[in-house]
Amino acid sequence: MHELVQLIDESRRVVVFTGAGVSTLSGIPDFRGENGLYKQLDGNLVFDVAMFDQDPSFFYTHGRDLIYGLEGHEPSLVHTECARLEALGKVTAVVTQNIDMLHQRAGSEMVIELHGSPAMHTCRDCGRPYDYAWACQRVWKGKVPLCESCDGVVKPDITFFGEMLPDGAFEQACALAAEADLMLVLGSSLVVHPAAGVPLVTPRCGGKLAIINKGETPLDQHAILCLDDLQEAFEAVATAFS
Ligand code: ZN
Repeated sequence: MHELVQLIDESRRVVVFTGAGVSTLSGIPDFRGENGLYKQLDGNLVFDVAMFDQDPSFFYTHGRDLIYGLEGHEPSLVHTECARLEALGKVTAVVTQNIDMLHQRAGSEMVIELHGSPAMHTCRDCGRPYDYAWACQRVWKGKVPLCESCDGVVKPDITFFGEMLPDGAFEQACALAAEADLMLVLGSSLVVHPAAGVPLVTPRCGGKLAIINKGETPLDQHAILCLDDLQEAFEAVATAFS
């Protein structure tokens, strides 16, 4: 039996923690990666809240393909297997650093988005909410989305640099991690804090930690299983739990 299959088989409350390596399986570029948006555009300016307030067109121009072209990407095998393992009662929650909504599209119901999501947008001035489709319509016309009530600039509910994580998300993720008997880290290098602190909660509370990531992570020493090929591991999972 594949080592990962065995671990999942033995566990009853699995929490999955996902990062950019899961999105890249769906063809979404890792914006922190070698050829990512961050490297091309000099650092973190696209997702910087001070920059956004100074010139929102910078985000809406450079982030457009990444954030408002998501419908061209389909959930991967990893996304669909996470949803299926939740339906089977194995997975209690998905905690994700990703902002592409692919876990929900794959059918996962309990998803904690540590860095928010573009599913909703909010007016910077009056707080009026708008949904993704509303924003897409305006962004693809080359416009900065403006509030219909007050003409304020509308921003996606993604956590930008300089902003707090969404209310309660980190606490909820830690509580789920504390109750898990297996924390499964998928496609995250675990370097972006505070999100990267969540998986360590599980081994601290007596559960197991397994990490599947291309490259080392700072938590490898706490893991009972480290693998590097997500696709291969989840093909084994898909076969075993079919
Ligand atoms: Zn407004």
